[in-house]
Amino acid sequence: MGSVRADKADRRTINRMKVFDLACEHGHAFEGWFDSTEGFESQQSRGLVECPVCGNASVTRKLSAPRLNLSTPAASKNDALSPQRVQQLWAQMARHIRENTEDVGERFAEEARRIHYQEAPARGIRGVATARESEALADEGIEVLAFPMPDAAKGPVQ
Ligand SMILES: [Zn+2]
Repeated sequence: MGSVRADKADRRTINRMKVFDLACEHGHAFEGWFDSTEGFESQQSRGLVECPVCGNASVTRKLSAPRLNLSTPAASKNDALSPQRVQQLWAQMARHIRENTEDVGERFAEEARRIHYQEAPARGIRGVATARESEALADEGIEVLAFPMPDAAKGPVQ
């Protein structure tokens, strides 16, 4: 099994070897050491590479896990869920809502109903509704989203 597990006696060989992430067809993941990609492929095609767990010789190289760096200078991984970040996202969402909906104020429930029954043009609206009004809308199958608007976003669109 020298093809799969490095021979500890020969360190110089190990240093020149490549480590591959491998998996057998039963999903066992393990590392294989080979002198080159060709070396691996050659041994693999001859069925010489076996899973150390179950001995299965149907071994394939796993694709390397993608390493995606999605962080931006403004939002690194570490502060993604900080209160400041949440506040920021909340404000962004509030702004998005404000910019993409028509403020119908107290007429919200009435307007939502009219849109639902196609008595008014379909569009995004925002406004205020009492709990009772929201319940009545839900009963009629009209979905409304309760979103607490931050004070800063309540004013007119800049
Ligand atoms: Zn296996």
